[in-house]
Amino acid sequence: MRYHNITKEDMLNGDGLRVVLWVSGCTHACEGCQNPVTWDLCGGLPFDETAHEELMEALDRDFISGITFSGGDPLHPQNIPDVTALAKEVKARFPHQTIWLYTGYLYEDIKDLEIMNYLDVLIDGPFILKLLDKQLHWKGSSNQRTIDVPKTRQLGQIVLYDL
Ligand code: SF4
Repeated sequence: MRYHNITKEDMLNGDGLRVVLWVSGCTHACEGCQNPVTWDLCGGLPFDETAHEELMEALDRDFISGITFSGGDPLHPQNIPDVTALAKEVKARFPHQTIWLYTGYLYEDIKDLEIMNYLDVLIDGPFILKLLDKQLHWKGSSNQRTIDVPKTRQLGQIVLYDL
């Protein structure tokens, strides 16, 4: 996997103060995307052991609420294995933190992936410029959903995350 950045104290991409991993690679090509630089799967840097340590050290602070995977698309097929392994590790090492993930795919199409076992919140769907709404929390367009993953899996129907 390749990545562009690790943001260590982010307040815009989920609840609380979060660490954000911005991965490389996205094929959704949404018009008006804020991060087209992240579309190239070969862009950015390799996510090597140094990056892994940097990420874990950033998470290992009392005031951090959790990790957010963004990009790019963390669920581009080439990113799924590494992002799943990271989510699993974060869940085990920092059980009181939450794991959020942004993807251009719809929940219904990815709900059976292993990573769903580790996610707390999924923001799904592509960014649609004509549905842009700057008042929305954590997402860009009104088609995107902020999904409470554990409750959705438990009830077998979409449950949105309560603000
Ligand atoms: S899914 Fe996200 S990163 Fe990919 S093109 Fe759409 S807005 Fe950009």
